[in-house]
Parts: sequence; C-alpha cells; structure tokens
Amino acid sequence: MLTIEWTNEKGWGKPHIKPFQNLSLHPASSALHYSVELFEGMKAYRGEDNKVRLFRPTMNMERMHRTALRASLPSFDKAELLECMRRLIDVDREWVPQSNTASLYIRPTFIGTEPSLGVTKSNHALLYIIIGPVGPYFPSGGFNPVSLLADPKYVRAWVGGVGNYKLGGNYGPTIAVQHEASTLGCQQVLWLCGDNHEVTEAGTMNFFMFWINERGDKELLTPPLSGLILPGVTRQSLLDLARQWGEFKVSEESVTMAQVLKGLKDNRVKEVFGAGTACVVCPVKRILYNGQSYHIPTMENGPDIAKRFLKELTDIQYGRTSSDWAYLV
Ligand SMILES: *Cc1c(COP(=O)(O)O)cnc(C)c1O
Repeated sequence: MLTIEWTNEKGWGKPHIKPFQNLSLHPASSALHYSVELFEGMKAYRGEDNKVRLFRPTMNMERMHRTALRASLPSFDKAELLECMRRLIDVDREWVPQSNTASLYIRPTFIGTEPSLGVTKSNHALLYIIIGPVGPYFPSGGFNPVSLLADPKYVRAWVGGVGNYKLGGNYGPTIAVQHEASTLGCQQVLWLCGDNHEVTEAGTMNFFMFWINERGDKELLTPPLSGLILPGVTRQSLLDLARQWGEFKVSEESVTMAQVLKGLKDNRVKEVFGAGTACVVCPVKRILYNGQSYHIPTMENGPDIAKRFLKELTDIQYGRTSSDWAYLV
C-alpha cells in the first residue's frame, strides 16, 4: 500500500510504499465521525504485450482533487499522486492478472484524521492507496443484465448537494436501499430525483439509454452533469466514442420516468445500460417502478451499442488498440 500523511504545520510528508497493514487512528478522527472521507475507483490492465496500463487516470486525479477541496481536505499535486500510484503498481506488478478480462483494482482513499470532535477543517489527513486483483464483472463471458428498483421515496443526490463527488458519505446511506432492492429481486437501484422523477443514476453507474427520441431521432442519451450525477470517466469516454462515430445524436439531457415509460410503450427504447469502471457497461432488462415491472428490451436488441462500447473500451484498456487514453505503468 501507499500512504502519505499531511499536517497543517508541515504540509505533505514523504510517500511510503509498504506492506499492506492496518491503520492506527485516533478514535475521534474526523473521517469516522463526520465522513471526512473520499475515494476513487480505477483499474490497471495487463495487455497481451505484457504491458500494464491505466485508463485515463488524469481524469480520476482531477475528480479526486475536486472532491478533496469540497471535503475541506488539503490540495495535492495531481501529477505527483499519479506518479506515486504508478510506482506502487510497478512494485506490485505481478498482482496485475494475466488475463484479458481480469484486472487490478485500485482504491485511492483520502481521510481526515483530525483527532478532535470539533466540526472544523482537518489539520491532519492521510491519503492512501490499496490495490487488489479482481475477476471479470461478467464471469459467464456474456452480459448479465440487471433489474433496477426505481422508488421515488429515496433520493441519492440533489442540486446543491454533493452527489457529484465520490465522498464516502454518499454511499453508506444507499446500502439499505440496495438491500431493499435485492429483496424485490432487483440488483441495483435506479435513483430518481424531483417531483417529475428525473432519472439520475443506476446504482454506482451512470445511466445511458439508446432510443428513438420524441422527435424521431436515433439518440444516445445520458443525464447532464447538473450536480446530481457523478461525472464518470466511463460516461465521458462513451460520449467521446459515440461522438467520434457520428452515427446518431448524442445528448446530455435530463429524462423523466414518464418519458422512459412512453418510449417503452411506443417501442422506441432499444437499450438501457449503466456505465462505470467496474463493468464498463451493464445492460438493464427490467425496471420496477411504483409496484409495476417494466421489461426493457436491451438484450433483444443485441445489445448492439453496449457491445460495441464494451469492445472499443476494453480494446484500449488491454492495449489491443493504441490510444492516448491508455497510460503505461
Ligand atoms: C464511480 C461512480 C460512477 C462511475 O464512474 P467511473 O469513473 O466511470 O468509474 C458512476 N456513478 C457513481 C455514483 C459512482 O460512484
């Protein structure tokens, strides 16, 4: 693991790469009481050429830095942190699986270690990175489509809130809702917001819909970065790829449950999927909303777009296509 301590008096200490071990924390640490905690989620991939690559890691560093400032944790040099991460992965290079579906998961974490119960800016903080190999998200090889529970009584994020940051405090409260979803046969929660039940995110994935919109255009749609949405690296990459393809309209626009249901009724919804580092894309086959189950014909439609995204992104991640989105470790 990598650890770097910070104090207000001395600033950043030396980074240390050391054996994985427990942390020793003051019981009053602000991370434990007030959720002064944030994280990132990234992966390192081993290509057939045996080279190890990260995927657009500067975007994660940017997001982590923005989140640190919002959490009143100290600023850091994004390029230096990426170099520390590179060195850590280099030391543990053998842990990056020899596989074109598995990878090494990387969890940068930043916590307030202020040893005081005052709700004030931390004078002590700890940034650390832990890593571990992970298997394929879809062990069967093919897609494993999910069902989503959309219950408007739960709200993940709101305008002016912090849903657009990877702060630990955003995730703890979702676990009970996720559990409720599982008792109803759903694998994830479709988070809604506002009186018109705007669709925001699918679990910890960004929401995508490929459909024929109300004006009759073929369109890839994802909600805009209005503050309700986590700005995913995968989300941005799918938008970038689809705009390069130039084969259909690509929109960052809000969409309500009523619009989705109307689209389903008119047979205009082709594919619905979540997007994130864990799965790249995860097809949705069903939405449970107001006690009604709605079938989504994602799998019946290929899913052509989801498959194409998966192929193009994993080709870059595993070095089968060269791209400046790949970062050599
Ligand atoms: C991490 C995360 C995502 C996906 O972001 P990526 O950078 O693509 O992995 C989407 N939504 C939420 C709520 C997240 O926490």
